[in-house]
Amino acid sequence: MRILLVEDDQRIVDFVQRGLKAESYNVEVARTGMEAIALGKEGKFKVIILDLGLPDLNGREVCERLRSLGVTTPILMLTARDTVHDKVTGLRSGADDYMTKPFAFEELMARIEVLMRRRGGLTKPDNREFTIADLVLNGETHEVQRGETPIILTPKEFALLECFMRMPGKVLSRTRILEQVWGYSADPLTNVVDVYIRQLRRKIDDDFELKLLKTVRGFGYKMDIT
Ligand code: CA
Repeated sequence: MRILLVEDDQRIVDFVQRGLKAESYNVEVARTGMEAIALGKEGKFKVIILDLGLPDLNGREVCERLRSLGVTTPILMLTARDTVHDKVTGLRSGADDYMTKPFAFEELMARIEVLMRRRGGLTKPDNREFTIADLVLNGETHEVQRGETPIILTPKEFALLECFMRMPGKVLSRTRILEQVWGYSADPLTNVVDVYIRQLRRKIDDDFELKLLKTVRGFGYKMDIT
């Protein structure tokens, strides 16, 4: 999946590009507003990450220009400023979301995923069945089993479990989980993630010798068999 990164700061380009490549995205970089318009108007990207401060046009102008050309690609605007005024004018120019620098890569990733999901741009994997050890989750039938034991989950518990099973062994931060399962408008100070992790553990791990859902202190949670 292709992402256009419009940014003239090489440190940020390196940071974002490295992270996105690790997540298997195909990243193209534009360093000026004009370059961004030339590349973006083709409409071949899933998301455009657009810095507000560019050497020629500013991000808002680029955004307005793309929208006036009929480009509907979701745009995530980056800026060092975080005043309400900047946010409002950014969104008015046609951006879909707004993020202030500095930011964590996890947060960027979560926002990109939300944007793609909202536009229905996220490709559904063909195989919607996930397995870790004897735990099986079926995304089509919404059935979960550990060995022969069926496990009944609420929709949120199911979404949480699917999040882990799609990325076995990968540590997911609370923020990432919150944004994936509850959406990015969720209150970041809520402890809902911990509450649901406890509930999920009770259902999928408590009665079984092999524990699958692990806490990684200071980072978040992961699911694996080690
Ligand atoms: Ca810049």
